[in-house]
Amino acid sequence: MRLFIEQIKEPQNIAFEFCPEECDVPEDIGALTKPIRFEAHVERIQQDIHISGRIAAQVQMTCSRCLMPHKERLDEPFEVMYLPGAVDEKKNLEEIELEEEDLNVSYYHGDFISLTDLVREQLLLMLPIKPLCRENCKGLCPSCGKDLNEGECQCSLDIGDPRLSVLKKLLHT
Ligand SMILES: [Zn+2]
Ligand SMILES: [Zn+2]
Repeated sequence: MRLFIEQIKEPQNIAFEFCPEECDVPEDIGALTKPIRFEAHVERIQQDIHISGRIAAQVQMTCSRCLMPHKERLDEPFEVMYLPGAVDEKKNLEEIELEEEDLNVSYYHGDFISLTDLVREQLLLMLPIKPLCRENCKGLCPSCGKDLNEGECQCSLDIGDPRLSVLKKLLHT
C-alpha cells in the first residue's frame, strides 16, 4: 500500500485494512491472526509528511511464563513524521534532533511512503516484549516444569528452598 506524496494536497483521513500476509511480522515473534486495521490522519508540510493514527490487530503469541499460545489484542496510537530521504544529510540531522523528542522520525525515498512498512514497523513496536497469557500467569515450576496455572506441584511443598517459600507466601496472600 503506497501513499503518494503528490496526492496529499490537504490534510486528510485514511483508513485501510491490511491482510496478515501483507505486513507479516517475523514468525518467531508471533503470527497475525486478523486483518490489521489502520486509521490515520495525514498532513503534508511541504515535503514533510505527518501521519498519526491508530493500528489495531490481533497476534498469536507464546506466553513468556507458561509457554502457552494465546492471542494478544493490539490497539494503539502512533505518530510518525516522514522526511524526504536524506539528500542533504546535515540539514536532516538538525531537523531530527528537533523532532526526535516526542515524534518518531522516519524517511521516505522516491515519491511515496510505504504504508505497509509503516504498519509493520509500528506493530513491532507495539508487540509486548514479554507476552503474558493473562496478567497473573503463574508460569511453570522452575524445578518440575508443571504449569502452575493448573494447580500447585509437589515442589511447592518443599520448604527447603527459601526462594520457593517466598513465592509460596506470595501466592497465598
Ligand atoms: Zn502464561
Ligand atoms: Zn514443581
